[in-house]
Amino acid sequence: MSKNKTAFALALCVSSIAWAATPGPLPPEEDKELGRTILQELVQIKTTHDVGTTLAARAIEQHLLKAGFPAADVQFVAPSDHPNSGNVVVRYRGKSHHTPASLFLGHLDVVEAKAEDWSVDPFKLTEKDGWFYGRGAIDMKDGDAALLESLIRLERERFKPERDIIVAFTADEEAGGDANGPAFLLKEHRDLIDAGLVINLDGGGGDYNNGERRLFELGTSEKNYVTFTLEATGPGGHGSLPGPDNPIYRLAAGLGRLQGYHFPVMMTATTRANFAKLAELDPGPLSADMKAVAQSPPDLAAADRLSEVVRFNAELRTTCVATLIAGGHAENALPQRARATIQCRMMPGDTADNVQTALTTTLNDTQITVTLNEPPILSPESVPTPQITRKVERVVHSMWPGVPIVPTMATGFSDDRQTRNAGMPSYDLSGVWIDANENRAHGRDERVGVREFDESVEYTYRLMKEMSKVK
Ligand SMILES: [Zn+2]
Repeated sequence: MSKNKTAFALALCVSSIAWAATPGPLPPEEDKELGRTILQELVQIKTTHDVGTTLAARAIEQHLLKAGFPAADVQFVAPSDHPNSGNVVVRYRGKSHHTPASLFLGHLDVVEAKAEDWSVDPFKLTEKDGWFYGRGAIDMKDGDAALLESLIRLERERFKPERDIIVAFTADEEAGGDANGPAFLLKEHRDLIDAGLVINLDGGGGDYNNGERRLFELGTSEKNYVTFTLEATGPGGHGSLPGPDNPIYRLAAGLGRLQGYHFPVMMTATTRANFAKLAELDPGPLSADMKAVAQSPPDLAAADRLSEVVRFNAELRTTCVATLIAGGHAENALPQRARATIQCRMMPGDTADNVQTALTTTLNDTQITVTLNEPPILSPESVPTPQITRKVERVVHSMWPGVPIVPTMATGFSDDRQTRNAGMPSYDLSGVWIDANENRAHGRDERVGVREFDESVEYTYRLMKEMSKVK
């Protein structure tokens, strides 16, 4: 996954209010240089899935030991069957052992990049025209570098947090994250990362609109991934003697009914706050409808109109869509079997049972079976509480005064689903500003602004301090 920057692209087209992009504060020169050096080092250590993250994790471990962290508080751990996909977890000791720790997450792995597809070497950090180019520049070696630099700076300054700060640099986020990373740490080493609050720098952050600061996303939730298989069977037979019972036609007719079905509108604390804020920021044609769906109960006619925008539709309800289809066994034989895969993204709070019932009812054909492929990892919403909102405001406004902070729900999933599922409220709070319409994560010529990266180093340092406070 990557920064969820597409949510506002449509709304931005009609924007009229904007915040001038006055530069934010930079870290002290020494820390600015160290942040850049670490970013360069991490980009140059290739951490694609086939290579693994161990070399990067070991490099981070060395930096931490050199900075004075006790060896006992810097733990390298890898699944025994994947020694090349290592994670490193550091604990910065606070005054209180009784208050649950704050955990920061950064994944070390990156998506493959082929040199021939890029205009620069993807596994070198290239500075050009105010940008740093390289695989992971925005997803998310920038965040990893900012986390490591901040740890070193806090240690050098002898900062004493009120509670423990844990930072986990993890593996295999881009591979789905089921077997390694936070999932593996929670399963095998929960004591290392157990926390009362999780901050993930893999999402959220600042959105520019035409170079002006528009809003800052606080990621609080994500949709839940679940997949079903539909199957119809029939007697089969010779292709020259077709009868009335054909599983391909049966399934196709059922899929037609599913296409016309819309799950009910479901609002969360986050999506309500999100639409309300966007309505304020974008006094365009959709503004009144956004305000109306943010009401409790939501205005369903307004929801219908907003649902014509694909992105808003996904934010208003659970969605399911046919993604794979297969059937029959020979060109000249009647099919005995037809199957379709239905991929669903549930709103936080929705359940696989609800979805299965809705699918079965809509198909309205007892001869099409609906099977849950595997139980979903349910990721409950981490509510944007007044306390967390205040903390975020303090840090963000100390950097970029006045920018609106907007809670957001991602339509994709991230490692947050593991920590949220484990009962730890998790918030996405990258400190990097990028244009809402630019998303090069996973793509060609991935880049982060030099100034934006330097500011994110300072932001991360302030964020760590703030989130280590008990109140
Ligand atoms: Zn990512």
